[in-house]
Amino acid sequence: MIQIKTDDEIALMRQAGLVVAGALQAVRREVRAGVTTRDLDDIAERHIRGQGATPSFLGYHGFPASICASVNEEVVHGIPRADKRLRDGDVISIDCGAIVDGYHGDAAITVPIGDVGPDVVELLRVTEQSLWAGFAAARLGGRLGDISHAIERSLRGHDHNYGIVRNYGGHGIGTEMHQDPHVLNYGRPGRGAKLVHGLALAIEPMVTLGKPDTVELDDGWTVVAVDGSYAAHFEHTFTLTDDGPWVLTAEDGGVAKFAELGLTVPARG
Ligand code: MG
Ligand code: MG
Repeated sequence: MIQIKTDDEIALMRQAGLVVAGALQAVRREVRAGVTTRDLDDIAERHIRGQGATPSFLGYHGFPASICASVNEEVVHGIPRADKRLRDGDVISIDCGAIVDGYHGDAAITVPIGDVGPDVVELLRVTEQSLWAGFAAARLGGRLGDISHAIERSLRGHDHNYGIVRNYGGHGIGTEMHQDPHVLNYGRPGRGAKLVHGLALAIEPMVTLGKPDTVELDDGWTVVAVDGSYAAHFEHTFTLTDDGPWVLTAEDGGVAKFAELGLTVPARG
């Protein structure tokens, strides 16, 4: 079942989105060599609770933290640990969710630590760009496949053959963090659910420098690239309005990024 939200419910999701944006910003400021992934989790939880919100992840199917912290070949769902210290040359995906009055926001960034090499810098850039290409392709009355296709096409337009992870994808979001529909990061346009007013989606391309195959570790959570290659993961929650896409987990609603893509959307609070 796809949950359609009222404007008032979307407004609550915007509040949750801004809490997530703030939490990720607070964490990003502290990402450096020597910091543990548990330290970063503490920062995120403190920020979320300080805003009067609740962490989405903590306790979700027993997940023990408020962020997922996935380092290097870890793609998603890494568990923050007090003995996992970041080192120069690492990359870390930080995924975070928050609940305001029962409504969720969900977003992720991947951040380099020190010198990571140009191929990894490019992996991060290309992955984030594909997320925005997905939003830019979304139109009221369009189809879910338009987003999936735009993400894939964006990722394929490079000399390097990136691994587009197929086992995981984006999702509907609202009164639960994960709702229908599942959103593939590849596919054909004009297929799938109709994009309508009140639909909210978390879009999250996961991309590796090598093969797309992943495996879950024995901890029951951490998903790693089978070939051990570096992975990147970017995510935002968005909805569609009469004036275009509104990225609920971006502080400016997406205005700056869309401008880079030649798309004008209204500034929003
Ligand atoms: Mg997420
Ligand atoms: Mg998500």
